[in-house]
Amino acid sequence: MYKLTICHLYPDLMNLYGDRGNIITLSKRCEWRNIDVETVTVSLNEEFDYEKYDIIFIGGGQDFEQTIIQDDLMRGKRQRIIDAAEEGKVILGICGGFQLLGKYYKTQSGSEIECVGALDLWTCSSEARLTGNLVFECDFLKSQTTDGYVVGFENHSGKTYLGEGVKPLGKVIKGFGNNGDDGFEGAVYKNTYGTYAHGSLLPKNPALADHLITLALLNKYPEFQGLDPLDDKLENLARTSVIKRVLADKS
Ligand code: GLN
Repeated sequence: MYKLTICHLYPDLMNLYGDRGNIITLSKRCEWRNIDVETVTVSLNEEFDYEKYDIIFIGGGQDFEQTIIQDDLMRGKRQRIIDAAEEGKVILGICGGFQLLGKYYKTQSGSEIECVGALDLWTCSSEARLTGNLVFECDFLKSQTTDGYVVGFENHSGKTYLGEGVKPLGKVIKGFGNNGDDGFEGAVYKNTYGTYAHGSLLPKNPALADHLITLALLNKYPEFQGLDPLDDKLENLARTSVIKRVLADKS
């Protein structure tokens, strides 16, 4: 039987707009296929032995929580997260968690939060908050059955800019995405994914959830042949109905 271990980083500090739903979705979609899943939480001052984990998740949070986490990252977790990303572990960071995977975050108060540096990107706070529903298009999710559109909700003051070492996760169809200027949303490097999409993200975007599960299984079981399909009628109905509503909104 296949088994995946998920590490939920800082669940007590970084969990906005139901980000924990991403962990539930990953777990359920594995369980429904008889893939064993264990979720471990790791927070401040706790050991982060990344080699034990197949998927590492960090949700969004306020600037205040990000500042607290900065100190904990610098005490050792930072290098381990970089090593995990370099070794191709599957990592997903949402909003504040996405920003923390980058190099630094300059907040509205003028202070600079030093971040992990696993992703070649940086974030500077803007006066306006970038808030609302977000739809973006991911080429790697396009298939005969899906259009590759991902839907979520964003609320951030940080504007993120990508360096040459990462690729955008997708192209913004509606909303602001990374910064509201360049039309990009999120970032990908090896198997590390960052996005501004709360929502939570994965329950409404099952193709993305399965993409991450597949990468994690391939890492651990090179002979893995691919996931059995699930009946995603309800998930896709939720996804397409929200996308329709968001795209029809002219504001
Ligand atoms: N504090 C960060 C910002 O405002 C992240 C917010 C979030 O995770 N929603 O940009």
